[in-house]
Amino acid sequence: MFQPKRVVFENAALEYRTGKKIMEYFKHKDVELLFSKSGRITQIPGNTASEMYFEGKSTLVVGIRKSYKFQSCKPSAQYQLPLVSGCMGMCEYCYLNTKMGKKPYTKIYVNIDEILNRADKYIEERLPDVTVFEGAATSDPIPVEPYTGNLGKCILHFGKSKNGYFKFVTKFTDIDNLLNLKHNGKTTIRFSINTDKIISEFEHGTPKFKDRMNAAIKVLGAGYNVGFIIAPVFLYPDWETEYGNIIDDIGNNFHDSSISFEIISHRFTRRAKENILTVYPKTMLPMEEEMRKFKYGQFGYGKYVYRDNELSCMKEFFKENIGKYFDKSSIKYII
Ligand code: SF4
Repeated sequence: MFQPKRVVFENAALEYRTGKKIMEYFKHKDVELLFSKSGRITQIPGNTASEMYFEGKSTLVVGIRKSYKFQSCKPSAQYQLPLVSGCMGMCEYCYLNTKMGKKPYTKIYVNIDEILNRADKYIEERLPDVTVFEGAATSDPIPVEPYTGNLGKCILHFGKSKNGYFKFVTKFTDIDNLLNLKHNGKTTIRFSINTDKIISEFEHGTPKFKDRMNAAIKVLGAGYNVGFIIAPVFLYPDWETEYGNIIDDIGNNFHDSSISFEIISHRFTRRAKENILTVYPKTMLPMEEEMRKFKYGQFGYGKYVYRDNELSCMKEFFKENIGKYFDKSSIKYII
């Protein structure tokens, strides 16, 4: 659970029951309480890039979602469901490092009823097709779930919806409050996992592999659809043994179940590399451009990916190893 150093309340959030409840909770805690009338967050301190980053990461903003236009989220879902933005985790490679500004605070939205009403309109517009919403496109929503209960509300909401589906991904493990909810098989919970080496070197402030696995086992026991995102995959000297061990572990625990895999090799943009180096100047992330292939992405900017021969070797490896335990169709993609 996220334990922030400071909490900033947008005035508008205090008009909502959840906003008031969160205020009541933090009033009795040893945290700095601040307010923002305009919704602009200007009170986070920090002189250097690194200070700003860590202070941002220690800040929770309680606000409302003003825009009810949802961003598209292809190909994994139709729309992003805006529940939270930002994350308390400090993964060195995180895609949010280029998205959340220099002070990457976590913001939770308390106007969930309005957000879900808007989701229902999107579902209606797309009938008779189903509509899938992704709840973790710009965050990891689990560490702030005890404050808002937003995921729980979404799970119940989509559990009752005929044509709406919900999914989210997490590296965190505080999922017990979700286990007894009536999800009716409409929610998929994916766990983002990696080898112990990668977690301890780069995924600061996140749970260990074993704990993520135990959370996934519980979620499966509660009848949810479960998936694993193995990402980012790094090709380091012992990668085959270590990723092989992960798959064996999943295979041994989940072999009779229908679970899904998404596998994403490590890639970086030049901008991401610059940002990472300002915050983590001693990072050991492999970002030598000359060791990679440059590839233009669908959004017009280029990224550095593993070379073709390395990628095809990686793809073969995962297909073969996952294939020992699961049907081929369990692999959604390997990129
Ligand atoms: S847990 Fe996910 S969202 Fe959070 S910092 Fe790590 S990669 Fe980013």
